[in-house]
Amino acid sequence: MVKIKNLNFEELQDFVQNLGLEKYRAKQIAQWLYKKRVKSFDEMTNISKSARKLLSENAEIDVLKLVKVEESADGTRKYLFELEDGNRIESVFIPEKDWNTLCVSTQVGCPAQCKFCLTAKDGFTRNLTAAEIVDQYIHVQRDVGEDRRISNVVFMGMGEPLLNFDNVKKAVEIMTDRNMLDLSTRKITISTVGIVPGIDRMAKEMNKVKLAVSLHATTDETREKIVPLNRRYPISEIMAALKRYPADNIRRIMIEYVMLKGVNDSVEDAKRLVKLIKGIPVKVNLIPFNPYPGALFEPSPREQIEKFQKVLWDYNIAAFIRDSRGQDISAACGMLRTKEKKDVKIL
Ligand code: SAH
Repeated sequence: MVKIKNLNFEELQDFVQNLGLEKYRAKQIAQWLYKKRVKSFDEMTNISKSARKLLSENAEIDVLKLVKVEESADGTRKYLFELEDGNRIESVFIPEKDWNTLCVSTQVGCPAQCKFCLTAKDGFTRNLTAAEIVDQYIHVQRDVGEDRRISNVVFMGMGEPLLNFDNVKKAVEIMTDRNMLDLSTRKITISTVGIVPGIDRMAKEMNKVKLAVSLHATTDETREKIVPLNRRYPISEIMAALKRYPADNIRRIMIEYVMLKGVNDSVEDAKRLVKLIKGIPVKVNLIPFNPYPGALFEPSPREQIEKFQKVLWDYNIAAFIRDSRGQDISAACGMLRTKEKKDVKIL
């Protein structure tokens, strides 16, 4: 059985031709899958009954089961999905005034093990397939309704996207193909903990989408304490990769920086950050730390975050403080989990 949402448009064309169907059927099928978001081949009414039967004998459409939806006081919606092997992942729908964003997961758990991140606590289980990534979009779009179109996708959920490069790349192809989800490449952001070979590969193979890098510190000494992968890819190597990356003022790299009280939030840190990013077209996203019971860190006070931001502004660096959305339902950055929800029943 082929999971049909693992196929990009070219592969879908090959697939239908191998079944003995005409090549143009791929376009029709893609329309049904990605524009109308049907759940079965039987709904594809402009395709003959016998072709529909053939398709359903050889391919499957949905790969996720929706388990639970929670809605925050601020309108953010968190989705818990079950995969075919029983593993569970989460996605977050974030409505904004003029657009809607979906935050997708790329792995079950995460191998990166950042010390301040709750997702890390579940360990790492496996990579998601392209179909499992794309299906998060389809299910959420079905749930929120067509008048709330998801225009932006951020690869900022569970997992490290650049450690699942091939499947993430395929999912991006499906999301941006005009025959498929047809999203604008500029509205897709891939966030990485700083996997240098992955950034270099992105520069070659996926540089139309936006790159975000979770820097979080300005010295290797501090960064090693909070991001263990810094031992493998230290700050200097990450910055060198960003210098090689084909960014410009229109397509800037986003530097993410979680603000941890007394750890990385001093004015000296801000000044060091200015030096590090000199000459690289970036914007900085300061992320207030989302605390949770048992966390080893505390959030920086708001005034300290603003002080830090002011230093960046003084050097003409675009710096924003990220809104913490969906905190009351644990949907904010770094709060997505799988394991503790095993008892929840399927809808
Ligand atoms: N693995 C990728 C994708 C995760 S994106 C990456 O590291 O970039 C999620 C962002 O939220 C990352 O910048 C991550 O470091 C940050 N984050 C993790 N835990 C957090 C927490 N408790 N509060 C605020 N931000 C957190």
